[in-house]
Amino acid sequence: MNTDSILQIGNPALTGKANPIQITKITSKENKKIYSELLGFLKKQKLQSLSTPIFDIKKRIIIIRKNKKPILLINPVVFEKSKTEYNYWENCLCINHGKLWGLVPRYQWIEIVGHLKSGRRVSLKLTGKTAADFQHQREHLEGNFFTQRIQKTNLEFLVGENEYKKFKTKLPKPGKVKQIHL
Ligand SMILES: [Zn+2]
Repeated sequence: MNTDSILQIGNPALTGKANPIQITKITSKENKKIYSELLGFLKKQKLQSLSTPIFDIKKRIIIIRKNKKPILLINPVVFEKSKTEYNYWENCLCINHGKLWGLVPRYQWIEIVGHLKSGRRVSLKLTGKTAADFQHQREHLEGNFFTQRIQKTNLEFLVGENEYKKFKTKLPKPGKVKQIHL
């Protein structure tokens, strides 16, 4: 696993759903190797989150950081979510190698269930940016991208990395999503 092995948007392998891992295979040798490679990549690249489909591995695995600590989740499912949404600036390693930024609405909090790499079943409540990171990665499991979630009124702020850094103070701030009445 390295930065060159990350698929880029336009590659059909990034679309379509990833498959759940059978419970009895969570601790298989093959899957353990994937967990350790994913965690290694996350740490080496100092990333906040990661998922398997971007490496052309059609399995439902997500890593997020909760209080900076990486948590690897297998077959995670959202079972509860907030009514309010917040916009966050996001980029994606699969879209122009992370050099395109957009303001993306995400649920303020979510409750999820999934399995740890030990096989233990856990439920977690994620809030704020951690919840947003999870929602970003979950879209990869479904074959979608953050660009598909951006509100129409914010599409003009789909910006390149240089402009994002240069004009950050002039671009909209992250914050609560206002209801749009059409
Ligand atoms: Zn992404």
